[in-house]
Amino acid sequence: MKYIGPHVSASGGVEYAPANAHEIGATAFALFTRNQRQWVSKPLSEESITLFKERCREYGYDPRYILPHDSYLINLGHPHEEGLEKSRAAFYDEMHRCEQLGLTMLNFHPGSHLNEFSKEECLARIAESINIALDKTRGVTAVIENTAGQGSNMGFSFYHLAEIIAQVDDKSRVGVCLDTCHTYSAGYDIRDNYDAVWTEFAEVVGFEYLRGIHLNDTKKALGSRVDRHESIGLGLLGMDFFKRFMQDPRFDDIPLILETPDESRWAEEIQLLKSFE
Ligand SMILES: [Zn+2]
Ligand SMILES: [Zn+2]
Repeated sequence: MKYIGPHVSASGGVEYAPANAHEIGATAFALFTRNQRQWVSKPLSEESITLFKERCREYGYDPRYILPHDSYLINLGHPHEEGLEKSRAAFYDEMHRCEQLGLTMLNFHPGSHLNEFSKEECLARIAESINIALDKTRGVTAVIENTAGQGSNMGFSFYHLAEIIAQVDDKSRVGVCLDTCHTYSAGYDIRDNYDAVWTEFAEVVGFEYLRGIHLNDTKKALGSRVDRHESIGLGLLGMDFFKRFMQDPRFDDIPLILETPDESRWAEEIQLLKSFE
C-alpha cells in the first residue's frame, strides 16, 4: 500500500502537525520539529511531546510514515571547523528531538563542499557526522536525501549516497530518501528511462536503503541541476510518470511526501495519486 502526504506546517508546535495532515486526507506526512531557519531552538516541552504522540495515535499515523526534515542551515560536510561543529550540534539536536517524539527517521540534505575541498573529503566528512550523531542517539535512522546538485551540494549522484553509506558504521540506521524532482534535475531520466534509472539505483545503492520518497514534479530540465518543484502532473515529469510510480510496488510502505508548491492542491493531489494505485 502507498502512504502519501505533504510536508505540513508545525506552526504553534509539533503537536499541530498530525491534525494538519489528517484534515487533507494524508496517510503520511513530513514536518520540521524546530524552526528550520534558526541555529538554536528551545527544547520540546513535555506537553508538546505527549500531545504529538497522542494525536499521531488518534489519527492513525505510525512513525514509519512520518518523515521529519532537518534545518536547511545544517551542512554536515562543511569544510571549516566552526561551521561543521555548529552543524553537528544542530543535527544531534534534531535527532534527539525525533527520539523524544518517538519518531524513527530524520531526513536531511547531505551537505556542500563550498568549493573549498574535494568531493571525496566532503563525503567522508558527512559520513563522519552521521556516525557521531548515531553514536549519541538510539532508534532514529539518518535518511540522506538526494539533491538536484545545485551549487556545491553533494548527493546528486547515486554514487555519493552509496559512498556515504559505505562509510557509516551502523548500516541499520542509515537510509536514503529520493526526491523525484531532484533525481530528474540531477540527470536521471525517470520519465523516459524509468526502468533503467531504478535498476541503476538498485545496483548502486539498493532498495533496502530506501526509506522515503519526496514526490514532486519538476519545472527544470533533465540534467539542469536546478531544484524547482512543480505540482503533480503539471511539470516535466508529467502524469504518466506518477501513474507508473503509484503502481510500482517498490514504493509501497514508505512515506511518499509531497513538497509541491501549491498547498491548496494538496488534498486533491493525494486523492489523484491514490486513484492511480
Ligand atoms: Zn525534497
Ligand atoms: Zn527540492
